[in-house]
Amino acid sequence: MPKPSFHPTRALPYGRQHITEADVAAVTAALQSDYLTQGPTVGEFEKQFAAYVGAQYAVAVSNGTAALHLCALALDVQPGQRVITTPLTFAASANCVRYCGGEVHFADIDPATGLIDLGQVRKLLEAHPKGYFAGLIPVDFAGLAVNLEEARALANEFGLWIIEDSCHAPGGFFIDSQGQEQRCGNGNFADLAIFSFHPVKHIATGEGGMITTNDEQLFHRLLRLRTHGITRDPADQIHESEGGWYMEMQELGYNYRLPDLNCALGLSQLARADEGLARRRQLADRYDAAFAEAPGLTILAPGRPGHAYHLYVIQVADRKGLYDFLKTRQIFAQVHYIPVHRMPYYEGLGWRAGDFPLAEKYYTQCLSIPLFPTLTDEEQDYVVACITEFLTENNQ
Ligand SMILES: *Cc1c(COP(=O)(O)O)cnc(C)c1O
Repeated sequence: MPKPSFHPTRALPYGRQHITEADVAAVTAALQSDYLTQGPTVGEFEKQFAAYVGAQYAVAVSNGTAALHLCALALDVQPGQRVITTPLTFAASANCVRYCGGEVHFADIDPATGLIDLGQVRKLLEAHPKGYFAGLIPVDFAGLAVNLEEARALANEFGLWIIEDSCHAPGGFFIDSQGQEQRCGNGNFADLAIFSFHPVKHIATGEGGMITTNDEQLFHRLLRLRTHGITRDPADQIHESEGGWYMEMQELGYNYRLPDLNCALGLSQLARADEGLARRRQLADRYDAAFAEAPGLTILAPGRPGHAYHLYVIQVADRKGLYDFLKTRQIFAQVHYIPVHRMPYYEGLGWRAGDFPLAEKYYTQCLSIPLFPTLTDEEQDYVVACITEFLTENNQ
């Protein structure tokens, strides 16, 4: 393999935001409007985002972690309650249970997809009396949708709620048993779904997040919890109104609101979401083709329909070697994820190396390589050439 003749003029991270003139104009307009915090842009962003994922309701919040926390509160997670999630995720998916004093349990992954293995979830559920577990938090890892129809059947059988962590998958879908596309976050199977608008995700608002649901009661509860537990709606109040100023704090809530400024950026980004998603899929297809025959390299879940490609993950034996080599070429790959149960905090709660061997093995080999809508074909070819060079030199 000849050394690449093209050299990119910028460093290539595994993901990056895309800010256009239209985005800048949208934020400027919001800055010059009457509202900086809770104006009409918040509701418009919520409405359009709900339509995008196919859900009835959406609640904009400060970030994806706040979204998870509010979901756990709205579902009344209590101290000691047990909730199952995947070890292969960002820590926040599990932490939201801990915020409410709940106990986090894990089920190992399916190594072919990186998703929580619902067969393992069933085993765990069957090993305990009904009622032992309260909920399930599946994660649409890397952008690949969990089959929530199957998860719902399991949840119904064992009396669980479901929070879908869809931070990686706006626009992603799975195909249900009727052959229908089921979009991530559409609320047809999960009680609640959450998204993040951190710049590395599909849609950037700076910090930001969203909860989607089809459950009207949960929707109203989330609105109240997002703003200190306060309601201004006379129809929902416990005491008689005492005048125009009257409001009630009915439960302990938080300030987890997303400002107008951020929502203006989100709206502008959302208008290009399909474009960005199409480019991600196109780049993933190009990687799939380039690596199809690469010796010593495995592609995670190649060519799956509905994949939203937040991450493009490859697996190699000498992961650290490849990571370090790419760095010398200005390619900043990343590892997703160190399994949550291996974090010292979770080890302090009793989890150990060896508890989830498939997630642990996956971790030793995985690498997320550059994938973002503004990555050019030439830059991508350079990434492929560098990886191929490393593999060739290390297989001899
Ligand atoms: C990014 C992310 C979160 C947290 O979102 P923030 O907006 O950064 O708080 C939660 N879960 C997953 C899977 C994520 O990728």
